[in-house]
Amino acid sequence: MTKNIKGLTSALIVAAVVVAGIAGIRASDRVHGEELPSVPTETSEKSAMVTVRVIDKEGKLTGPVSVPRVEKSEEDWKSMLSPAQFAVVRAKGTERPFCGTLLDNKKTGYYVCVACKLPLFHSGAKFDSGTGWPSFFQPVAKENILEERDVSHGMVRTEIMCMRCEGHLGHVFEDGPKPTGLRFCLNSESLTFVEEADAKSVGEEVPTAALAASTEKTEVPKAVTRLPLPANDFPKADAPGESKAVFGGGCFWCTEAIFEDLPGVKKVLSGYAGGDAASANYDAVSSGTTEHAEVIEITYDPSQLTYGELLRIFMGTHNPTQLNAQGPDKGKQYRSAVFYADEKQKAIADEYFKALNETKLFGGKPIVTTLEPLKAFYPAEEYHQDFAKTNPKYPYVQYWLPEKMKKRDELLGIQK
Ligand SMILES: [Zn+2]
Repeated sequence: MTKNIKGLTSALIVAAVVVAGIAGIRASDRVHGEELPSVPTETSEKSAMVTVRVIDKEGKLTGPVSVPRVEKSEEDWKSMLSPAQFAVVRAKGTERPFCGTLLDNKKTGYYVCVACKLPLFHSGAKFDSGTGWPSFFQPVAKENILEERDVSHGMVRTEIMCMRCEGHLGHVFEDGPKPTGLRFCLNSESLTFVEEADAKSVGEEVPTAALAASTEKTEVPKAVTRLPLPANDFPKADAPGESKAVFGGGCFWCTEAIFEDLPGVKKVLSGYAGGDAASANYDAVSSGTTEHAEVIEITYDPSQLTYGELLRIFMGTHNPTQLNAQGPDKGKQYRSAVFYADEKQKAIADEYFKALNETKLFGGKPIVTTLEPLKAFYPAEEYHQDFAKTNPKYPYVQYWLPEKMKKRDELLGIQK
């Protein structure tokens, strides 16, 4: 998850500035007080293409692809949109709160642009803001949202628009919930909801070359039950005791949840490893500029569980072939990593990665999990501990955890 408010916001501003710069979109000369490079103001110089993520014919979200911008005359828009939709999307109006048809929608799927069908938001990021308008903490892809400073109605706000057709959507505010701290405030009239299972209905033909350049999807191994145990492992201890393992598998909220209830696990802490004490705090780590990774420290009873068994569950419940990212979370703080406490742990993991590469269970892609010496483990702030357990309804957790738990249960041979 992109949990850093400032990071994401500036990324969005940069994206908007870059796009504005490339496409020659008329932009206000200042966004959040930052000078924009001077851009041509003639709309005729606007690029005919935009780089966005679309839903393909299989119903899956693609990586960034270059597609034609959608431009129509006022009359054409009027003929294809309802008066209420036109009032919001083209005339930048706002629907009355608590009236929108999508406000209470709890179904799983995509919210696409009512005018050009570009996917804009996903149900996994929807939350009840209490404002009366559909609210999301992040867009489906930052490429798909155009931001512009809006000084109308005596307020300074950031307007959000569809990147492909520049239809007005609403505004984005910095008072949203974790993980982003952002609140994308939408008008139901600017969106069409498409159920996940029905996503193909808005699928688009995407040039093969453009698809090949797409960023990879995160997928844990499919045939997870075939994941072998490490050949080299600690023997099971004769008497109860305490051992520790430190793994980084992307956002620690979900990684922690996977191990927390395992028989033989005594305690799991979310925290940071890889960097120094001064930067072992959430603000610094989520900026992506420290050496830290988000990790968990598992304290387990070596008479019940071995290091190798934990390692197998770890490798089977995240994507160890994704470099410096995990799922929706980008940056080296989300890298796949094993922090070894001694030479034996190091050897077990090292041999295991080599053996896994032979199995081709990860689609033939090489394991990129880093093997790093554990200098220190720094527990994360209290509100991150047991996060999934205390916030089971949190959209990020609801969206990302079930698949991981399913893989874990398959690995353990648990039937549900
Ligand atoms: Zn659109």
